[in-house]
Amino acid sequence: MQRLLLFDIDGTLIRMRRGLGAPAVFGVFADMFGVEIPTDFAHDCSGKTDLWIFLEIAARFGVARDEVFARAVEIRERVEAVQAAECRPDTVRTLPGVHELLNTLNGERDVSLGLLTGNMEGAGIAKLRPHALDVFFRFGAFGSDHHLRNELPPIALKRARDLHPGIDFSPERSLIIGDTHRDIECARAGGMKAAAVATGRFNAEELGRHAPDALFKDLSAADTAELLLRLL
Ligand SMILES: [Mg+2]
Repeated sequence: MQRLLLFDIDGTLIRMRRGLGAPAVFGVFADMFGVEIPTDFAHDCSGKTDLWIFLEIAARFGVARDEVFARAVEIRERVEAVQAAECRPDTVRTLPGVHELLNTLNGERDVSLGLLTGNMEGAGIAKLRPHALDVFFRFGAFGSDHHLRNELPPIALKRARDLHPGIDFSPERSLIIGDTHRDIECARAGGMKAAAVATGRFNAEELGRHAPDALFKDLSAADTAELLLRLL
């Protein structure tokens, strides 16, 4: 049985420079729905899909849910365009140990790597490209596949199976690595293992309350790959 490791992007593999990322999403919303969003508008976006964030902002500013769903394709295209334009080597930072960890895992024959992220697919890949992290991933489940993160694990498994015909994958031998409690919940919803890393908005103590199977300060320790694989 093949082991599957699914990585979140923001706060787990990379971080965007302050002021980028979420504000671009707010900007697309304001533009598309003719709503004025204050410049100091703050919203908890951690671990949510972009469409989920859109739906929450819609509720806040009195835009109907159906209107958001009806324009989902346009939302995706516009979010991907503005976020891709923001992603450059100087605006995206690879988090500690990520490159080494992916290299090590990539060398394991019975391990497959995928993405599980709330980003629209094009935006997620654009965030990985400036530092060539995209080369490690041939598939994933994205915010453009479903507005609820907890619906993404079966989609990731299906893509893994489609890409590797004849190779068996299971939720029990799959692991989600992410920086928020929503990544942990998503792993649980999909029957997968959960590893949390405190390189996003939440510290180790906060993440620890949600009882992940493994908890890391960051991914830089030399035994990180071994500890992750031991869970599967
Ligand atoms: Mg994240």
